[in-house]
Amino acid sequence: MNGNEKIRKATTHISQNEVLIFERSSAGKKAYMLPPLDVPDVDPAKLLGELAREDLGHMPEVSEIEIIRHYTRLSTWNYAVDHGMYPLGSCTMKYNARVNETVARLPGLAEAHPYQPERISQGALLIMKLLSEQLLEITGMDAITLQPAAGAHGELTGILMVRACLESRGNPRKKILIPDSAHGTNPATAAMVGYSVENLKSNAAGMVDIPSLEAQVNEDVAALMLTNPNTLGVFEREIHKIAEILHRKGALLYMDGANMNALVGKVRPGDFGADVMHLNLHKTFSTPHGGGGPGSGPVACKKILDPFLPAPVIVTKADGTLGFEYNRPQSIGRVRMFYGNFGMHVRALAYIMANGPDGLRQTTEDAVLNANYVRKGLEDAYELPYKTPTMHEVVFSDRRQTAKGIKTGDIAKRLIDYGFHPYTVSFPLVVPGALMIEPTESESKASLDLFIEAMKDIAEEVEQNPEIILEAPHNTRISRLDETTAARKPILRWKPQS
Ligand SMILES: *Cc1c(COP(=O)(O)O)cnc(C)c1O
Repeated sequence: MNGNEKIRKATTHISQNEVLIFERSSAGKKAYMLPPLDVPDVDPAKLLGELAREDLGHMPEVSEIEIIRHYTRLSTWNYAVDHGMYPLGSCTMKYNARVNETVARLPGLAEAHPYQPERISQGALLIMKLLSEQLLEITGMDAITLQPAAGAHGELTGILMVRACLESRGNPRKKILIPDSAHGTNPATAAMVGYSVENLKSNAAGMVDIPSLEAQVNEDVAALMLTNPNTLGVFEREIHKIAEILHRKGALLYMDGANMNALVGKVRPGDFGADVMHLNLHKTFSTPHGGGGPGSGPVACKKILDPFLPAPVIVTKADGTLGFEYNRPQSIGRVRMFYGNFGMHVRALAYIMANGPDGLRQTTEDAVLNANYVRKGLEDAYELPYKTPTMHEVVFSDRRQTAKGIKTGDIAKRLIDYGFHPYTVSFPLVVPGALMIEPTESESKASLDLFIEAMKDIAEEVEQNPEIILEAPHNTRISRLDETTAARKPILRWKPQS
């Protein structure tokens, strides 16, 4: 089979006719049949007075099959991790086991009200306490808050704590150091907390350049925000030394823990010198994400930062029951109403307990193995700018393909034709034209092989037939969007044709 035959095979479930017509309403069609009236036939105006509506506005009038096809079709216009491989680097689009959903939806948990008194919330409190203990064990930290609702929110919380801690020592300091491979939320966080951002150069291996760090750390530096493994998928081997350089000058080490999928069960940030970090439960700990749904970004820290954690914290009271402690005079205050996205806490705990220590370690090893398998499979077809060992994700560049006028974004669009979600395009910024691929542990060897084959076929097409790539995707309902308008002026709801 050549590339296009393979593609056609993958997409035959989408009928082009069905795809072209969106509006299906026409007057008089109904999707329901009501039973005969068995109560008196009263004029609605008599019952409802002025609230009665004569005209229902422009409600669509469709038959049942049209409704069913409409929603089923819409569900196929989107790509999901339930559909196929989702190699979006830095996002850890792993599979979220259905049992976690089942547990989170148990009525006693899903319907618990956040204003329920502590006395009848002991089960929910226990879940949060157990999750806290597990996450502390995994990270090697001393104290934790589950409040933040995302990774970026966790960063804000952590850096506010750093600021409060330094302030309590007499000087909040001025700067935060951030490596050039960092996620964009890191500098945004530093700026929001009132710090200026100083860029830290990477060395040829894609790691923090130690001599530059030594030269840059002084009494003005509040902290270094470091992602480890960093966004190149490279483990910062000198991490102990980095921590020591900072601590010697009274600065703190913030660890962006979004990449913990490469470390869980193997290495603990608390042991390698991090003072405070966030976790993304919606990456590493199996909470579904990608559709803008609720996330969770717990922040764990060492003892020195414990007093500054957001209030309330969970405590065991004198009578042995669990409760919230609000009296925390040095706390940075609440960062979110109530106690965080509780449903995410339930899912994360279910995931951790179902896997156990050995299962979590295996998960990490499989995620790293899969990324290295993809690296090996593609290193002849794409340029690998950093040869340092790969952890959970691998970053190629489009350098060879740009010679033919094809950029990373074009390759990503062509990948859609092959039935895959694109990898992360043009990030991290240290790699010009980056292709950032994170397969996660969820993929079988067979699906990794299909992905590698698709990427190699595309590299071949770049040589033979670059036009087909420049016009891709060919098999989606709409092809290339005006991405600026799509982001700035999105049309998010159906409006009736008048
Ligand atoms: C995803 C990510 C973040 C931000 O997390 P959100 O939950 O999207 O706010 C921060 N840093 C890195 C390295 C990430 O991959």
